[in-house]
Amino acid sequence: MFDSAPTHTAFHPAGPGAPARACGSTTGAATAVGGVAAVTTKEAQGSVGHLAGLADLAPDPDLVRSLDAVSPEGLTDDAVLELVAAWGRVASWARARQLDAVAELAGRPSMNPVWPAAANVSARQRELGIAGDEIALRLRTSRHRGEAMVRMAQAFDRHLAETGDALRHGLIDEAKARAVVDGLARVAIPVALEVQDRVLPIAPERTPGQLSADVQRALIECDPVDAAHRHAAAAEERRVCRPRVLPDGMAGIYAVLPATDAVAVDTALNDAARTARVSGDGRTIDQLRADTFVALLAGGAHGSAIGAAGGGAGFKRATVGRGPSIRVTVPISVLLGDESVAATLEGYGAIAAEEARRIAADPQSTWRRLLTDPASGRVLEFGRRSYRPPAELADLVRARDGTCVMPTCGARAQYCDLDHTVPFEQGGETAPRNLGTLCRHHHLLKTHAGWRLEQPEPGEFTWTTPTGRVWPPAAGPPGADPPWS
Ligand SMILES: [Zn+2]
Repeated sequence: MFDSAPTHTAFHPAGPGAPARACGSTTGAATAVGGVAAVTTKEAQGSVGHLAGLADLAPDPDLVRSLDAVSPEGLTDDAVLELVAAWGRVASWARARQLDAVAELAGRPSMNPVWPAAANVSARQRELGIAGDEIALRLRTSRHRGEAMVRMAQAFDRHLAETGDALRHGLIDEAKARAVVDGLARVAIPVALEVQDRVLPIAPERTPGQLSADVQRALIECDPVDAAHRHAAAAEERRVCRPRVLPDGMAGIYAVLPATDAVAVDTALNDAARTARVSGDGRTIDQLRADTFVALLAGGAHGSAIGAAGGGAGFKRATVGRGPSIRVTVPISVLLGDESVAATLEGYGAIAAEEARRIAADPQSTWRRLLTDPASGRVLEFGRRSYRPPAELADLVRARDGTCVMPTCGARAQYCDLDHTVPFEQGGETAPRNLGTLCRHHHLLKTHAGWRLEQPEPGEFTWTTPTGRVWPPAAGPPGADPPWS
């Protein structure tokens, strides 16, 4: 199968095409340990500057121990390079072992709730179950990342086992494994297997980007008829992601679009920027593209290149009139000149005091400043008279929570449901100490999938997941009782 892989027996204990050996099997390990150990000893004597045979060693616990004993100082450049590669194979192997555990978890009944029809849960969500949410919370990663792990684990546990084996043997890294799994996500199993057979043998020699292109090409060649259907299904999931925090008060926006739309947007921004440059605008192409992007969608402050481009880009303003409403929570001391406290831009996080004051002073801005000085003394306690929180109370809770109250979730409070922590029907009051912001997905988990939410203090939330984990943990690190103790 893996023609281009190193041919040392440690890689193929049972020959090419054989089932994956059990992890931790010691076949070939003696060679591995002996090889590295011998070299390490020589290294200690200062006589050899390379690690003979290291490139041929398959990842397993013995290789980890051996590599851990090797110090890169004093090795030749080439040997250090092989050390980098060997640790990379170990990382691949470790990821494959982790995904074994993910597959086990994802298959358990507790991770596959029976959703009521009224919950309106997507087929994709039903197939994935809720293991991705459980993992995201435990690893403190995004729900997207947790679900990606589950998808990959499920694929390796089923039809894409050979790709999983390539990862396990360190022949490909995680990025390449993901290129295969993502590329074949919507493909009928026979076609997926055929594509896998085509691309996997050359995968070790390809970059992740090249491998993605290989998969796309093979897919079209294997099943041209279905390509249009797959694209239509993929286009259903077009989206613009929420801003991602970058250093120095910057943020990235990432969009997933049909390729033709993406190229059209890119071309339009380029045309506008280049026309502006020709007309003498001193900004760089990148600056003009960025300013045009903002001006078209949000009426940005920097001015676009569209005027200079004569509107030839074919853009229409997505938002007419006033800019979108932006919420900034500002400690009152910031407005009085304090530089040492950060303000909070909802949907992003901390911003510098000066930036907050600039927004405050901008007459065009539609920001809503929510002063956090408790000195106002206003107590918002509305009791149980109504289910729907009054606007002031809703504002207060949204400003307090900032995002969905699932710790791994960044959904902006502004777009979240206001959830009664103890349901209204069960006597829960409509007051800050019983209200919290939940995005639709996490609201669904709470209502239908056995995730329990409590609010011991106003604005402090405790989740109990279907595995029984409590977040945040009551005391000590989670997982205090590992199976080997
Ligand atoms: Zn959420």
